[in-house]
Amino acid sequence: MNTPQHIGMAGAGLSCAVIARELAEAGHRVTVFDTRAHVAGNCHTERDAKSGVLLHVYGPHIFHTDDEEVWTLVNRYMPFKPYVNRVKATTGGRVYSLPINLLTINQFFGKTFSPSEARAFIESRADRSITEPQSFEEQALRFIGRELYEAFFKGYTLKQWDVDPKRLPASILKRLPVRFNYDDNYFFHRFQGMPEDGYTTMVQRMLDHPNISVHLGEALAATDAKRFDHVYWSGPLDGYFGFDEGRLPYRTLDFERFEGEGDVQGCAVMNYTDASVPYTRITEHKHFAPWESNAHSVCYREFSRACRPGDIPYYPVHLTEGDLLLQRYQARANAERGVTFVGRLGTYRYMDMDVTIRAALDVARAALRG
Ligand SMILES: Cc1cc2nc3c(=O)[nH]c(=O)nc-3n(C[C@H](O)[C@H](O)[C@H](O)COP(=O)(O)OP(=O)(O)OC[C@H]3O[C@@H](n4cnc5c(N)ncnc54)[C@H](O)[C@@H]3O)c2cc1C
Repeated sequence: MNTPQHIGMAGAGLSCAVIARELAEAGHRVTVFDTRAHVAGNCHTERDAKSGVLLHVYGPHIFHTDDEEVWTLVNRYMPFKPYVNRVKATTGGRVYSLPINLLTINQFFGKTFSPSEARAFIESRADRSITEPQSFEEQALRFIGRELYEAFFKGYTLKQWDVDPKRLPASILKRLPVRFNYDDNYFFHRFQGMPEDGYTTMVQRMLDHPNISVHLGEALAATDAKRFDHVYWSGPLDGYFGFDEGRLPYRTLDFERFEGEGDVQGCAVMNYTDASVPYTRITEHKHFAPWESNAHSVCYREFSRACRPGDIPYYPVHLTEGDLLLQRYQARANAERGVTFVGRLGTYRYMDMDVTIRAALDVARAALRG
């Protein structure tokens, strides 16, 4: 891209915002469209008018990464405050610490195990008759045994995916989902935090460049691509092709808002892992910004269900049966000239924010080199 070009972007989420900024700084003109009335895509945050609480409108977003360049980049637009994600779970009428750690094991089994005792105990519970786990369920049973699997994984997974865990791939559980110490930090990454004034302000600043114009409440159609020298498409991959081969399966989320005074649940995220409770978790948003103080509180009960036309697609559904439909769309996307498919919807994969930003940087730099 030696001569200045006019670039179109479908989406003002992290993917397109990062690419737009890189290309704009290199002298290209970028026009960004988003169907929504705000930038930042699914990590959008906004102040609740009534309580002043910073709401994570499309579900809680905690930033964590090992990628120092990505960490430096996000902090360039918005200082990040220290934040450690500590999740709790309610099951069988009791509250436990997540991810499963020594405290969880000792409370759940009524023991006072040391780390090595707990390790030996969990190994004795694990189903070693499963030598080559094919499914998520087999993998979990082989790692942690039936009691912990049923209490913390089975019901939650069923609610989240509405799929028998036997049909989900073993690859979802790559490593032993248990810690034999009292570390309850959900993430292993070196850098973790929350943007002081929310993700949306951060993305607004990324897009604040003389070479970038942003059109909110406006879709970019696949047929509009010809108006630009190149288009980056962070919308749904199947949507670009008018869903003509069928719809890629997604899960969507419903958030049921409720309010309270003071501290409603005492933590940001409480998972409900029993199948008998219809929601997967309750998030109390003020706890995502512990440096702020609000008298009122806003909570979301989160329900997961199959995504229908018109719903917001959240999580791609990958089943053990394979992704033949996805492969057909991917082949067509690869053959498409003048369009690059990016981001969580354009590439149909779950990506954390740091992975999204890294992928976007790589795409932009490859374009600038080529
Ligand atoms: C429930 C949930 C919780 C998450 N929590 C975390 C977390 O804690 N930590 C973490 O690191 N990551 C988390 N993520 C992942 C994070 O949301 C993604 O990494 C990030 O949003 C991906 O950005 P994106 O730009 O690829 O996609 P999106 O954020 O989806 O942005 C795409 C945008 O494109 C717009 N669009 C689509 N089609 C068109 C069109 N034709 N024309 C114009 N606009 C269009 C959409 O309206 C949308 O705003 C979570 C994701 C979900 C679903």
